[in-house]
Amino acid sequence: MDPNELAAQVADGDRRALAKAITLVESDRREDRAAQRRLMAALPPLATVLRLGVAGAPGVGKSTFIDALGHVLVGQGRRPAVVAYDPSGRSGGSVLGDKTRMGRLAQSEAAFIRPSPNRRAAGGVGNRAFDVVSLCEAAGYDPIIVETVGIGQSELAITELCDLLLVVVLPHAGDEIQALKKGLLEHADGVLVNKADGERRPGAEAAARQYAGALGLLRARASEAPTLVECVSALEGTGVAEVWAALEQRFSAARASGRLPLARAERLKRWFGVEVRRELERRVLGRPALLALQAELESELVAHQLGIGEALERLMAAAFPDEL
Ligand code: GDP
Repeated sequence: MDPNELAAQVADGDRRALAKAITLVESDRREDRAAQRRLMAALPPLATVLRLGVAGAPGVGKSTFIDALGHVLVGQGRRPAVVAYDPSGRSGGSVLGDKTRMGRLAQSEAAFIRPSPNRRAAGGVGNRAFDVVSLCEAAGYDPIIVETVGIGQSELAITELCDLLLVVVLPHAGDEIQALKKGLLEHADGVLVNKADGERRPGAEAAARQYAGALGLLRARASEAPTLVECVSALEGTGVAEVWAALEQRFSAARASGRLPLARAERLKRWFGVEVRRELERRVLGRPALLALQAELESELVAHQLGIGEALERLMAAAFPDEL
């Protein structure tokens, strides 16, 4: 289909067109590149809607939380879109998988759920994630929720993509608090201690106090807004509406203060930089002859037949033969 026509259908809110457009921008095929660019260029200017990241280890209850949040949002007349990235391959592009994971949302006409295969992309979100989010926005969805597994350093790409980040954790805090500085928690706008129901409630409250204390120490130096720390039960829906109200308030404040466009511009530039480096690496070092040479040099290095400097020089001479 003509990309301009597809863009028009997306902007009309056609769900099938949106799904098709996402498949197009996620394609790795060379012959799709021109159509990808034309599609993205043909999208109408976008309104600024909240892009909310939800991260956390497998099993903490992210999907259950997003389902509960989506339910609150639909009840308020909003049209949330969920883009899920799961490097474990659990969703693996299977819509059925997500139908069971986010049961209520999947049945809602107002919501759109897109399970996306993470494939080779580093960073916990696919490398076309920016375009996918933009497509959802063009189709009128608001807010856009990006779900990703993992809370480690490698998942930091979600912080470049989203305006606000929630990290979902479980009541037993210990180790995670120790690791606070290394991971995503440091970048979180909100930490949700999930499964705070039944007999787990008191433990969850104690964990929340620990998190609040530890995060407070981190933030005191950065003089930023304090991280929201809340106990929730995604399963029972408790605390979910309150968390949403707090997030909306933060987002409105950022928008009103003029900080939002600046922050988005900075993130966009960083994302572009990452894409530039990735593409250069693919196009230059990904050439079969260079890959073969690199493997050869590696063997010589390991056998102590040459040093790293010499190996590097030979690889670069092969990569850029015209340069002195
Ligand atoms: P995800 O891997 O982070 O997306 O986790 P899921 O949302 O799939 O949840 C993992 C398991 O925890 C499921 O069996 C859920 O039913 C359960 N679960 C999720 N949220 C809660 C909660 O608030 N309370 C309790 N008791 N169980 C929950």
